[in-house]
Amino acid sequence: MLTHLGYISKFDKCVQEFLPLSLHMKDIRDKYEVVVGIEIHIQVNTESKAFCNDANTMSEIANINISPISLAHPGTMPKANRQQVDQAIKLGLAIGAEINANHFFDRKHYFYPDLTKGYQITQDSEPYCRKGSIPYFSEGILKNIDIHHIHMEEDAGKSMHADGGDTSWIDYNRAGVPLLEVVTEPDFRSGQEVFDFLAELQRIVQYFNISDANMEEGSFRCDCNVSIRLKGTETFGERCEIKNLNSKRFAKYAIEAEARRQAQIIDSGESIERSTLLYNPDTDQTRPMRKKETAHDYRYFPDPDLSPMSITHAMIDHCQNAIGKLPSTFMQTFIEQGCGQAEAEALIQDRSVAIAFDLMLTSHGQGKLLSEIMLQKIIMENETDKVKINVKSFVENANIASLVNALSSPHLSKSAFIQHVMPQWLDNPSDDALVMAAQVGIMTSENQDFLDEYIAEVMKAFPEKISEYKKGKKGLIGFFMGQVKMKAGSSVDPKTLQSKLEKSLDS
Ligand code: ADP
Ligand code: MG
Repeated sequence: MLTHLGYISKFDKCVQEFLPLSLHMKDIRDKYEVVVGIEIHIQVNTESKAFCNDANTMSEIANINISPISLAHPGTMPKANRQQVDQAIKLGLAIGAEINANHFFDRKHYFYPDLTKGYQITQDSEPYCRKGSIPYFSEGILKNIDIHHIHMEEDAGKSMHADGGDTSWIDYNRAGVPLLEVVTEPDFRSGQEVFDFLAELQRIVQYFNISDANMEEGSFRCDCNVSIRLKGTETFGERCEIKNLNSKRFAKYAIEAEARRQAQIIDSGESIERSTLLYNPDTDQTRPMRKKETAHDYRYFPDPDLSPMSITHAMIDHCQNAIGKLPSTFMQTFIEQGCGQAEAEALIQDRSVAIAFDLMLTSHGQGKLLSEIMLQKIIMENETDKVKINVKSFVENANIASLVNALSSPHLSKSAFIQHVMPQWLDNPSDDALVMAAQVGIMTSENQDFLDEYIAEVMKAFPEKISEYKKGKKGLIGFFMGQVKMKAGSSVDPKTLQSKLEKSLDS
């Protein structure tokens, strides 16, 4: 059952074209500061929809997860969903927000074919939480974004417009899907910051199973409010809102395109008109969708069908137990313990990997070394798609202490170990890595006196090279080392060899 609507194209009437763009981002950054605040809509993982029993699952078949309640037939009554409330509280607690113990739902009225009720159930004057902040890394620097509030609401149906024609289709499966809307303060100063923040918020909700946060599937969508101001000034400029960005990259590009458009308007002596825009990735331009509505236009009032809610201490305790450290907290620890930026970032993508690695660091330190090893493990397992299941058991069963011993042993070259023993050890990580290295025969013996004989042979064989070395071609040391190693095999300790060689070459 698809609903046929022939009149949606009328909504495009207010579209007007803007000036062509010629300004570059760099010129704009020299003169203006970009100011951005964003609103993120997150579809919440629950069994059923926000206010009724329809399944909250994606479906290939249109209009299958619907009922008289989600279609808002007269006389039907909505009922709040405890799972949505729990998920909401989890996110609020995770970001240190103030939970509003007494909150309620409002109706936000507007007409659109994908909204059969004629209003959306949302929270306006009393959202369930306010404030809080989210730390995130952007280009290697730890930054922080203040959150204005988060509120609960429901999604609308989905309209699909046939290419070029005047026919539209509506799928109501999405109508009533529970959403959280996170509204940030206007704290961002570039598209890149928004990109990095979105990645962090995505990880946070995935970490605590609040949402799949899949931007391609639309379970994590973002609106960006953009204004510009002359550098050094305090007052914010008029803002425009770019709607429905469904990729982090597009959010970044849209912000940059919009900043260029605004700079051009201001440079030409005109002023910015508050409006709602869409971003077109093909032309890399923003274009107006409609004039901005004000709260007044929506005629908000408390929904009389839903009673005010109260959040109890027991509910908060329950949710507190279901969350834990934020990805950026792991990232900070990992970097402090010596991991490289790229390694730390790779290790926080999946929560079970981050927890496992955190445990490893607590008991063994050696951040730099172990992060490199873990990455090899992850890369290997990714190839066979087993990463999530096995990293946990790897950390629980692996003889990490023996690995640390092996890699810090003076009788074992790290590169030889990684090349000759590591793949085997990663397959059998409960084995002793040091014993394995000895079996493979790459341990150097403590006594390196046997080298003297080989060094003497090499000195005899290459008199011309010796005189070149003596004339200053010090790089030849590598050549001599190679010659000795060829004769002496893998038990050579490179440091001892080098100092012995230098001694005889300089004598
Ligand atoms: P509305 O309800 O009309 O969307 P809000 O005041 O709730 O307006 O703000 C929505 C978003 O706009 C917030 O994320 C906020 O940070 C951002 N915002 C507010 N003022 C500006 C500004 N001058 N420039 C950029 N973003 C802004
Ligand atoms: Mg808004």
